[in-house]
Amino acid sequence: LPTIRNWAGNQVFRPNRLLEPRTIGELRELVTSSSRLRPLGSRHSFNDLAATDGDLVTLDHLPRIFELEADPPTVTIDGAARYGELCPSLDAAGLALHNLASLPHISVAGACATGTHGSGDRLGNLATAVSAIELVTANGATVKFRRGEPDFPGAVVALGALGVVIRLTLDLQPSFEVRQSVYERLPQPDALDHFDEVMASAESVSLFTRWREPVFDQVWLKRRVVEGEEVGGPAQFGATAAAIELHPIRELAPDACTPQLGRAGPWHERLPHFRLDHTPSAGDELQSEYFVGREHAVGALGALDGIRDRIAPLVLVTEIRTIAADDLWLSPAQGRASVAIHFTWRPDWLSVRELLPAIELALEPYQARPHWGKLFTMPWSEVRTRYPHLPDFAALAARADPAGRFRNAFLDGLLG
Ligand SMILES: Cc1cc2nc3c(=O)[nH]c(=O)nc-3n(C[C@H](O)[C@H](O)[C@H](O)COP(=O)(O)OP(=O)(O)OC[C@H]3O[C@@H](n4cnc5c(N)ncnc54)[C@H](O)[C@@H]3O)c2cc1C
Repeated sequence: LPTIRNWAGNQVFRPNRLLEPRTIGELRELVTSSSRLRPLGSRHSFNDLAATDGDLVTLDHLPRIFELEADPPTVTIDGAARYGELCPSLDAAGLALHNLASLPHISVAGACATGTHGSGDRLGNLATAVSAIELVTANGATVKFRRGEPDFPGAVVALGALGVVIRLTLDLQPSFEVRQSVYERLPQPDALDHFDEVMASAESVSLFTRWREPVFDQVWLKRRVVEGEEVGGPAQFGATAAAIELHPIRELAPDACTPQLGRAGPWHERLPHFRLDHTPSAGDELQSEYFVGREHAVGALGALDGIRDRIAPLVLVTEIRTIAADDLWLSPAQGRASVAIHFTWRPDWLSVRELLPAIELALEPYQARPHWGKLFTMPWSEVRTRYPHLPDFAALAARADPAGRFRNAFLDGLLG
């Protein structure tokens, strides 16, 4: 049996078969010939969302698609495309996406399927750029969902439950330049007193803490270059501009990171924290992340502060980001402007698994939603209450996949 590991190496998939179709026709036949299968992206999720006791299908051998349309500007890509290869081609054509995650290594289909996000008060998660999505569903048919159609909001952040995504159309805008600046040691009380101002001090803002002291160790600002604009930042709340480039995990070398110190550069070389040609983040790690309504940022961070002594020994770094509200049924930012509280953990699952319930309990009053692609221990009964459109999604999934061909234990837990 093939053995496949996720990027972090903490999940081992042992599918019956690893399917590698070379044409859409072959993919359609494989889907109908399989009793259980899951699509696989670039394997950057940390939990068992992609796992199956049936077959895994990878789209890496299908023909590549890169089709630009001018009015409105969009690009249509294949289901295996990764941001790291897509973005330079877009930039060369004078075009850009609205935002990116911390790393360019991930597949667009996998990122959109899990509600992956960057930071920015006015920026929706990456799935909000999708205007059309085409899938091979359980009966081998090709189905397209377009923005504006009734089921479209269920089809984008879909966790691989509706079928295999083979084409995505993404909204574009003219290419732009970004300056990235890092500030150090923003006192936490000042940051929380002025949370809205701090998070609005650039188009994309990330706060990093290691929970060892009441300080945001680093603040990363990503600012569009506008002629005549000054490079400034959260200095007014007590932080200092970094004099050298930094890695969010301070003891790691910053050459894995995108350029800082306010140097202007193309959007796709500044919006991710990590460079495509380097290992992102720590490499040897686990991750969890929880989303709360933006209005609860201060309460939720205060609640976690109460257990900082338990978090600090296990965490490599925590990152706080903001995300605009959207209307995608399973998006963690559905219906509410959100704050994402992320944890990069030491690779010690037994200890992390013991701590997560305490974090989830602290965040319970704020109706936290866990990241679909990261580790959580929240019971499914609780997760279900967080998504008002879950019944709509379950009905859509039952229509697209009546025999449960794309189901796995994760989806059985969520959908019942
Ligand atoms: C170092 C690191 C940094 C990260 N940073 C961020 C971040 O900044 N923001 C954030 O939100 N997340 C972040 N993540 C999480 C990551 O973005 C998500 O886990 C995302 O799903 C990764 O996409 P993938 O292609 O690897 O998906 P996979 O892990 O391969 O798959 C995830 C899900 O997508 C489905 N899927 C994949 N391809 C298809 C397809 N073609 N059709 C249908 N379903 C499909 C799979 O079935 C599965 O259910 C990070 C992860 C790592 C390892």
